[in-house]
Amino acid sequence: MIVFDLICGAGHRFEGWFGSSADFSAQKDRDQLSCPNCGSSNVQRIPSASRVNLGAPEPKAPPASPPARTPEMEGKDPFAIAQMLYSRMLDELLTKTEDVGKKFPDEARKIFYEEAPARGIRGEATPEEHEELLDEGIPVARLPVLPKRLN
Ligand SMILES: [Zn+2]
Repeated sequence: MIVFDLICGAGHRFEGWFGSSADFSAQKDRDQLSCPNCGSSNVQRIPSASRVNLGAPEPKAPPASPPARTPEMEGKDPFAIAQMLYSRMLDELLTKTEDVGKKFPDEARKIFYEEAPARGIRGEATPEEHEELLDEGIPVARLPVLPKRLN
């Protein structure tokens, strides 16, 4: 799965997850993309570096390897496989990161400036806080959590 930053004609920014950039183009060509704020299907992709991060670098962690394919994936279409892999990645993320809730921006800063132990964290940040962290060069990523996983 890849995430694209998108913007609608009214200037609303949001993110969309796609199986590939071809998948994005296909959905856009068929007007299947719409802004979650105003419903406009005039949606453009904002060029941006892809970012993946879970809060902080983990120097001693082994390099991440993509989850292996399993027999249950045989014969499934690529999109279904991507969803399965994404779901697993999310499981990993939720079990290996510390939930710091609304303190996320503070903790992310402390870790970045080495005022707190380096570890993976997750939590909440407003779009403004998120932008501020990025402006400071702190690698953070917004993560769309599947609704059924929100307890
Ligand atoms: Zn909009």
